[in-house]
Amino acid sequence: MVSRRDFFLTCGGAGCALAAGVSAGSVLLPARRAFAANTPRAFPARFWKKLPNKAIECGLCPKHCKVEDRERGFCGVRENRDGEYMTLVWGQPCAVHVDPIEKKPLFHFLPGSRAFSIATAGCNLECKCCQNWDISQSKPEDVDFRFMPPDEVVRSAKDYDACVTFTYSEPIVYLEYAIDTAKAARKAGVRATMVTGGSGEAEPMKEVLKYLDAVKVDLKGFTEDYYQRMCKGKLKPVLDTIEVIRASGVWLELVHLCVPGQNDSEPEILAMCRWVKTHLGADVPVHFTRFHPEYQMKNVAPTPNATLIRCREMGLAEGLHFVYTGNVPGLAGENTSCPKCGKVVVVRQGFELEEMHIKAGRCGFCGTVVPGVWS
Ligand code: SF4
Repeated sequence: MVSRRDFFLTCGGAGCALAAGVSAGSVLLPARRAFAANTPRAFPARFWKKLPNKAIECGLCPKHCKVEDRERGFCGVRENRDGEYMTLVWGQPCAVHVDPIEKKPLFHFLPGSRAFSIATAGCNLECKCCQNWDISQSKPEDVDFRFMPPDEVVRSAKDYDACVTFTYSEPIVYLEYAIDTAKAARKAGVRATMVTGGSGEAEPMKEVLKYLDAVKVDLKGFTEDYYQRMCKGKLKPVLDTIEVIRASGVWLELVHLCVPGQNDSEPEILAMCRWVKTHLGADVPVHFTRFHPEYQMKNVAPTPNATLIRCREMGLAEGLHFVYTGNVPGLAGENTSCPKCGKVVVVRQGFELEEMHIKAGRCGFCGTVVPGVWS
């Protein structure tokens, strides 16, 4: 979770001279110093088709916006210019930061490593409780950004010994940039990961998945009512996307932000855990994380610890092997236990890795395979 004041841009076009000795979470240059103007450049978009009278239909996400000439789609970052659809965010991140991978959270993907995290403006949902609303609900011209083409992102990530992570806002709305960057990362031997709400169409998702090493999906609720009322979206396409990711073999983890009184009822949590087990299998990690009052929900108190603990217990009782609590450092639900012998194989404290007892992908105590990407 990052607020506007916490967005910092890293080094400029000359590579990553500031990188040496900088640790995950370090503050580098404030974004505002880097830019004189905010005029986004337009690049050809993909995944759309022409309609009569210079209108277009976007096929990137289930909204399928029909966009007239000189108009933009719902996400505010894709514009119809004379019958051609353009993206206004390719290569123009407004947030660049080095995070611990645990902050995404990805717990079964290279614990203790760094994520070179980028985001552009825009989102195809509007969640009332969005923790990054300052950029997700902004237009490209309303945020500070800099031009950072894929090769520069990859070079910087390499300098930090980090993977590239598309995160903070919604990578699906800047998918052309994410695909080109992940492709460049793969070529350079740098891993790429994505943090997404999962509201995307299958074909574009399959394309980016070819170059990704891990994906974390925010499964925001488990009813259509919640998605419509709280996010201006739909549940079914998200579930479809999650199944596409699982089928691709790319490492997958799920997060459910528990918003008190909105998506944390026992039937909803149970239904979600059962769906995960049935459709994805018991080995997909599920994180139940604490909500903080933000955006249009500043009047709702943070999630009580007892709710997170109860959700975790329900997930484990349903047979899921890896169920975590998040955003509350110190709760026992941050650690990973071997699904066979039950011994703790990864000890975490907040975003810090404290102990690791996994060797060659197996429990260091009994030798059972622990699913994930460990090296
Ligand atoms: S990506 Fe944006 S423009 Fe395209 S369908 Fe989704 S919301 Fe509409």
